[in-house]
Amino acid sequence: MKYVFQLITLLTISNTIKTSKELACDNINLLEKFIKYDTCHLHLKVHANFADWNLAKKQLLQQSFPIEKETRNYVRRVSDCVFSAVKPIPLKSNVQLAAVSNYVLRNILDLDPTVALTGEFVAFAGGEKLLTTSLSHRYGGHQFGYWSGQLGDGRAVMIGEYVNQRGERYELQLKGSGLTPYSRRGDGRAVIRSSVREFLCSEAMFYLGIPTSRAASLLVSDDPVVRDMFYDGHRRTERGAIVLRLAESWFRIGSLEILADSKEYELLKNLTDFVISHYFKTINVSSADRYLEFFSTVVEETAQMIVLWQSVGFTHGVCNTDNFSLLSITIDYGPFGFLEEYNPDFVPNTSDDEGRYSYEKQPDVGYFNLNKLRAALEPLLTQKQKKQAGQILNVYIDIYKTKFLKVFLKKLGLTFDIKNIEEDEQLIAILLKMMSETKSDFTMTFRQLGELPINKLNDYGITRFYWALKKLSKHKWYTEWISMYKERFFKEQKSEDERKEIMLNTNPRYILRNWIAQSVIEKVEKNDFTYLNRVSKILERPYEYQDEAEALGFASPPPEWSKQLKVSCSS
Ligand code: AMP
Ligand code: MG
Repeated sequence: MKYVFQLITLLTISNTIKTSKELACDNINLLEKFIKYDTCHLHLKVHANFADWNLAKKQLLQQSFPIEKETRNYVRRVSDCVFSAVKPIPLKSNVQLAAVSNYVLRNILDLDPTVALTGEFVAFAGGEKLLTTSLSHRYGGHQFGYWSGQLGDGRAVMIGEYVNQRGERYELQLKGSGLTPYSRRGDGRAVIRSSVREFLCSEAMFYLGIPTSRAASLLVSDDPVVRDMFYDGHRRTERGAIVLRLAESWFRIGSLEILADSKEYELLKNLTDFVISHYFKTINVSSADRYLEFFSTVVEETAQMIVLWQSVGFTHGVCNTDNFSLLSITIDYGPFGFLEEYNPDFVPNTSDDEGRYSYEKQPDVGYFNLNKLRAALEPLLTQKQKKQAGQILNVYIDIYKTKFLKVFLKKLGLTFDIKNIEEDEQLIAILLKMMSETKSDFTMTFRQLGELPINKLNDYGITRFYWALKKLSKHKWYTEWISMYKERFFKEQKSEDERKEIMLNTNPRYILRNWIAQSVIEKVEKNDFTYLNRVSKILERPYEYQDEAEALGFASPPPEWSKQLKVSCSS
């Protein structure tokens, strides 16, 4: 296999043709620059050679669960196991490393990021070099409201677990690495556009402070992958890509649903106990109420995840139970989108005709999914516990509402106060109503409310620089709302500086707008990875004003052409 190491660079790509050795040198220089720039690393020891690096000695998943006896790789119904042993099918032609996450390499995988430039790493991240038995997970799920039966890792393969210096265990997966027993009618591949989006967004979500899977690297190739992007008969040959992605666990609600549905109760119990004992450390795994405690934790954490999504305008797009993590981290990035002009009915996924997974419906979908988790746990519960599980679920809406209020108050620099709930809900509801009627930009409206001093907010001289706020200020209720806001703020006796600090740390200035993702994709499809790496650097500091991001228009009104952009389930 021929590896071409593209410049991972913040500089402009030179037109002169360089040898791969020179390119690797440039990469190393630039990566070194990135490393200095990386404020998050903890000065831990890192491996400078991939040959010295290895996966965890104890591969927990392999040791804890039955692996399917059948080892041939063909699509089938699988039963009585949680995993099938599957080897990734590496990409073949012109495989190129397009991007890496320095943070993930250094702080999660204990690797010096320059290691990514070696052939050994690329062989590992592309599924060619395996360090242990690789597995695909059997799960089911409710898709768009209906039970779909067996789904499973149709194009993902778990290539092993790694325990880092801090004792954190991560499961490494390749996405787009070919057919598995769970591929159904699919080809097991992923195209460049969806892989770029997953790589960029999962990392961006981390830096926004939202629980998420991570992405270590993105490989692109010239292998043809045929997709009908809008399911309208226009098939196009695209190119295959592989993302090396990580999560502490990839178990989903659908992981338990399939076992309950097929009445494999022993396995259901084993898997649930495993999840509790490894990822829910505060729960006593020998307690008779452990499943209830587990359920109640997932209820709370799912509510938290959805509130955090909404706080930055994130709309997942495919909130099926197979895409909802048991650890309540954001997984399976597909046709997601971030709100631009505020519209609660925003649906990023053109395949979602009914708008089932709109921005505003996400909390309801959370309830639906948690109810499916409750149903999956039922075989493990006594009659009394079944009733209690129902009661726990009923509290979800209140938990969600309180968390929503807390987070949205924080977006206004305010602190939740039990005595003010009704008034505060109104304050936020009126703001959102004004935003929806004036089509104000969700991200920049909140940001600019924090950037301007509170006493300047009702100034009709708001300059063009504050374009989002200017739009909002056209609303007939604006002046009155500002008075309400000021009154509420002065009640708290916080200083203006404190308000500003809270707001600038809560309201990002830069998010992965659809047009930005699209611009990156178009360049990556032409084998230009510079912009991808510039964008991913910018999104590492979403709350900080950055000259480069400003120059690229990331905090400006989105370009007109971006309004036509569409994303579908096809990936
Ligand atoms: P999603 O909703 O995109 O997360 O995927 C739903 C199901 O379809 C999962 O079981 C995926 O593994 C499977 N799937 C999606 N795309 C492909 C593909 N290209 N090849 C095989 N399976 C796929
Ligand atoms: Mg999925």
